[in-house]
Amino acid sequence: MPHILIVEDEAAIADTLIFALQGEGFTTTWLTLGQAALEHQRQTPADMLILDIGLPDISGFETCKQLRRFSEVPVMFLSARDGEIDRVVGLEIGADDYVVKPFSPREVAARVKAILKRVMPVVAPPSSELFQVDHERVQIHYRGLPLNLTRHEFRLLNCLLEQPERVFSREQLLDAVGVAADAGYERNIDSHIKSLRSKLRSVAADAEPIQTHRGLGYSYSPSHA
Ligand code: CA
Repeated sequence: MPHILIVEDEAAIADTLIFALQGEGFTTTWLTLGQAALEHQRQTPADMLILDIGLPDISGFETCKQLRRFSEVPVMFLSARDGEIDRVVGLEIGADDYVVKPFSPREVAARVKAILKRVMPVVAPPSSELFQVDHERVQIHYRGLPLNLTRHEFRLLNCLLEQPERVFSREQLLDAVGVAADAGYERNIDSHIKSLRSKLRSVAADAEPIQTHRGLGYSYSPSHA
């Protein structure tokens, strides 16, 4: 989950932000001083900063200026009144957005989400977190739940999982399953895949970890799992 560093000296404002951001699934750290924020960002970088302009030590502008010497982390300014912040100045300093108090915490959370979506690459979770293959027990767990697989389905899924994003032809999959190719092998693999998919769907209805590549075959796609 993205981690948001809130730098704001007014507890009431920080509280509403923390509440709104955590409601969106973010984790948060709250600090009241610019220097402390810089120190924190050097030690344990957050994914984004929400930075009040009027801080007790150095201003939010100054904090951002210093931050930019070592970090490209997205920054959203909080401004006490319209006009305190000149949008141009804010952007020159390297901020990504700003809001004027009083603001709607939910709107801030939505904007944080939008900024992070823009800057953070989509990282697929490693397969090891989604699937656990137990060769001894001929068992595969998906998202922590055991799949009730036939021997053929186990070999098929294991083969796909071993090389994420690789497209396997039906012949290659048949080979992995250990069945001799006969006239009906293509339909044979397709029916195994179909049954495998329905078992995966019973764990995660919206996921589609096995992708079909028309005319080519199938692949395991972690980003769709
Ligand atoms: Ca303040």
